[in-house]
Amino acid sequence: MNNNTTTKCPFLKDTTVYYCEVSPIRKLVPIDAISEEDQRCLSNKYTSCEAAREHLNGLQELDRCPFLHTAVMSSCSAAPGAKPVPKNNSVTSRCNSSAYLFCDTYLRMGQGAVDKRKKGVDEPIIEGIEVPMHLAYSMNHMWLDTGEDGVIHVGVDAFLARVLGEVDRVQFNFGKNGKKPAVLLRTQGMDLYLVFPGHLEVTETNRSLAKNPRKLLEDPYGGGWLFESIPPPGFPSHPAPVSGLMGGKMAMDWMRDEITRMNGFIHDLPSRQCEGSERLAADGGTFHEGFAQFLDQRDFYYMHNMFFTANESHR
Ligand code: SF4
Repeated sequence: MNNNTTTKCPFLKDTTVYYCEVSPIRKLVPIDAISEEDQRCLSNKYTSCEAAREHLNGLQELDRCPFLHTAVMSSCSAAPGAKPVPKNNSVTSRCNSSAYLFCDTYLRMGQGAVDKRKKGVDEPIIEGIEVPMHLAYSMNHMWLDTGEDGVIHVGVDAFLARVLGEVDRVQFNFGKNGKKPAVLLRTQGMDLYLVFPGHLEVTETNRSLAKNPRKLLEDPYGGGWLFESIPPPGFPSHPAPVSGLMGGKMAMDWMRDEITRMNGFIHDLPSRQCEGSERLAADGGTFHEGFAQFLDQRDFYYMHNMFFTANESHR
């Protein structure tokens, strides 16, 4: 749970604008960019406007144009040229919730790191693998983040990112008809199929991974997220599927054990005896980043079964 974050993106700006109901051109003018004396719409001079005269239909004269209205528009100040949209439009639901923490534009502004500093917490790093403490982890190396407003994100952890080292394709298969959300990661012609071990009402998948699948490995806890679940406005949060997930010290101990287990797994592989085995792990050291690319198909799927399925009998 992100306890020290607000539930609205700091780059989301609301502006109150004037617009004309009857003009053929729908122009939005911020209210602080209009001078009352100079604008005929805001005075009884509006009767000289052709569009107003056309629609007055006997309306009695007023001291300002009855067709001038105000609206609140939202826009992203971190993306110059972003089109303003009506406040509360579904486009801004991510910006208006803790989901903004996973927005590419927000992360590009370097704000992910700022948030971490604000938390004042040094995330534990075990043998080069980060284990953020606000996340809950599943046995098959997926994480779940629940924002303070109930917005949920799911991704893969840095252990899995280190094992793979490369991803060519990300394909989603998400939670329809009561199924658990799943993702297929293709690397070097081999497929790793991960199923999140909890039911989740998925409202969005990270479509940017289609263009840049490497993001999943470079930023597994941020821009590399996989599934998002935003409750509809006015509805209670979707329940977070936390049963069976690990957090805090339990997660740290488990990650330490997983690293030891993977090192042992590599050590015992038949291919470890072959030439080139140094590409998997240094003698007595932690497994190398991306070592999975050097496994043959049989060993790859053996590893998949041992570490990245929900089958606990292998542990
Ligand atoms: S698009 Fe991203 S950076 Fe911009 S306001 Fe929305 S969440 Fe913030």
